[in-house]
Amino acid sequence: MYKLQNYISGQWINGEGDGQMLYNAVTGDAIAAATSKGVDFKSILEYGRSVGNPALRKMTFHQRGNMLKALALHLRTKLDKFYAISYQTGATKADSWVDIEGGIGNLFANASLRRKFPDEIFCIDGESHNYSKNNTFMGTHILVPKEGIAIHINAFNFPVWGMLEKIAVNLLAGMPCVVKPATVTSYLTEAVVKEIISSNILPEGALQLICGSAGDLLDHVMSQDVVTFTGSASTGLMLKSNPNILRESVPFNMEADSLNCIVLGEDVTPGKPEWDIFVKEIRKEMTLKAGQRCTGIRRIFVPENKMEDIWKAIAASLSQTTIGNPLNSTVRMGSLAGQTQRNEVKEQVQKLLATSQIIYGSLDSVEVVDADAHKGAFMSPVLLMNEKPFAADDVHSIEAFGPVSTIMPYKNLDEAIELSKKGKGSLCSSIVTMDYTIAKKYVTGAASHHGRILVLNNECAKESTGHGSPLPLLVHGGPGRAGGGEEMGGLRGVKHYLQRTALQGSPATITAITNVYQQNAAGKDPGKHPFKKYFEELQIGDQVITEKRVITSEDIDKFADLSGDHFYAHSKTTDFTGTMFEQQVAHGYFIMSVAAGLFVDSYEKNPVLLNYGIDELRFTKPVYPGAEIQIRFTCKEKLPNDKRVIEKPEDFKRGDDIEKGIVKWLVEILDGTEEPVAGVATILTMVRRKNKN
Ligand code: NAP
Repeated sequence: MYKLQNYISGQWINGEGDGQMLYNAVTGDAIAAATSKGVDFKSILEYGRSVGNPALRKMTFHQRGNMLKALALHLRTKLDKFYAISYQTGATKADSWVDIEGGIGNLFANASLRRKFPDEIFCIDGESHNYSKNNTFMGTHILVPKEGIAIHINAFNFPVWGMLEKIAVNLLAGMPCVVKPATVTSYLTEAVVKEIISSNILPEGALQLICGSAGDLLDHVMSQDVVTFTGSASTGLMLKSNPNILRESVPFNMEADSLNCIVLGEDVTPGKPEWDIFVKEIRKEMTLKAGQRCTGIRRIFVPENKMEDIWKAIAASLSQTTIGNPLNSTVRMGSLAGQTQRNEVKEQVQKLLATSQIIYGSLDSVEVVDADAHKGAFMSPVLLMNEKPFAADDVHSIEAFGPVSTIMPYKNLDEAIELSKKGKGSLCSSIVTMDYTIAKKYVTGAASHHGRILVLNNECAKESTGHGSPLPLLVHGGPGRAGGGEEMGGLRGVKHYLQRTALQGSPATITAITNVYQQNAAGKDPGKHPFKKYFEELQIGDQVITEKRVITSEDIDKFADLSGDHFYAHSKTTDFTGTMFEQQVAHGYFIMSVAAGLFVDSYEKNPVLLNYGIDELRFTKPVYPGAEIQIRFTCKEKLPNDKRVIEKPEDFKRGDDIEKGIVKWLVEILDGTEEPVAGVATILTMVRRKNKN
């Protein structure tokens, strides 16, 4: 029997002993054994900290992002292999797509996130603050990668996505990791890690793998490490209370079981599109991945007068689901991940039966195609009904991690909100309504208890990613019972692996440290107009102070005519009594245009390719006729911009790309008074690189 291997300290090693036997969830045949017995768990953490961490820390965010993209492209070439193994977990093609291609998609999404970071090994976080009258003392925040290792302990239901959604984030942040998948489906995770390691795309020590028990791993974590856990609340609580984790103040991000819910809005009646959308969403959530989704809908709240109609519609829809061997193309729902998981689900349903009754499906029988219902871990979808949801606690606290959901009545929206909160914190909740007032009341009333809320109606249903799908750039996690964690979420997710440090000093010092120009630092003489410099030649702090230009009343009139902006404040005939202004005031956009007229240099072609946009723009004082405007124009930040890769026929049509970078410029509009700054903007240009086409 094949023994899964552990990838530890740069080597594939076999654990000792026979290990835990792993079975094909569809046929019941043994496929592999997993053991991590004999592994030196302490050495895993030390290797990650001493080998993987320095290698990743010295890469910039952009290098790490490009590494993730290369990895995603590589894994995409191995899809057939992964799908073939995934079927053995009981997953259908659609289930496997979510797991495998969803996971790879996560790598792509995080790779693209690099554009939100500088090409540095650390970054600034948020705004800078001036703390002094004479502009010599300021503060900001920086984020640096932690010097430890991320330890990911994952659940069994998404052996690929569960790993990739987490490692994408810690790798982008600059931290190495060790992955410990749930043992029962670890054969698929192992296959993916084998491909990752053999690709040599990640630096040595960036990723290690444990197939089997985590042993005493957590007893050796240290303060610079981060632990993430996905699984049941009971295991999570046990691990989170590890004295070493508490003593070392190790961040512990937990994603645990949650009693997610969906609400049918009071406005939705049979015949409206939202009625069918509601039914379809429930069927999808109950059957996709055989209901083994942390985000699965466990509680369904429906206006009491619509209970019968809606449960009959859901039951009719569930009866259309073909269950069986995922390799059969007619099958829409496969098996659970294993016999143990099926037994656990049935036990949980038995507990729920104390206050609920089964209105669709059965615990004892299931009709399957192309498979043996007993050898495989098959189960029928089970719809339960609980008619007194305020009297029962079990239905809000017992999670049956399979194709199981309970329908319950509510009298009014306040009740629906209260019921949604009885789950004591969930990963997500949905409401199906076309009524914006209902939607707003539900969202503002219930949001405190849910990590994500989907408002579903005919406007978005076709393109909606659905109740159950966490998205890489949005928060995944929830309060209370859901673990109190926050995975993914774009920049937010990356920050879990970075230390935030407040940085104080003079603007010039902080400019030198961060390589981002800070307002009030002395500028540098660029030698020539900075627009004549190529990307590589530009220095942070390169500064020009422009000629002056007097703003006249005629200028303002002409701009009003040209733009069509005849707002009363820009007209000299306005009676200004009771307004914010003393007299005719220049349009802010006119002043910004004047600024461009002053800082843009020449009629000749130069390395600046185009104006890319404005990040921020503030007009801090009115500019009246007679004011003398001058611009302080400073090179603030430089960001790389990758050359477009020609991959698809459309890319050829768009032509070859120019080697270039993005340059951010600080534009300060000065008016020569005691408080000279009348406006501030950060503009972006695309600048050509030298000696490239
Ligand atoms: P589980 O039994 O709690 O196991 C989760 C992970 O913890 C597995 O990798 C397991 O390894 C490991 N583990 C168990 N005991 C451990 C110990 N003493 N030391 C270190 N690791 C230990 O959960 P599961 O059955 O795999 O997953 C189902 C549950 O996960 C459901 O309740 C579901 O709601 C939840 N879930 C939540 C999310 C989310 O994002 N919130 C996502 C998916 C699943 P072994 O497999 O080797 O025991």
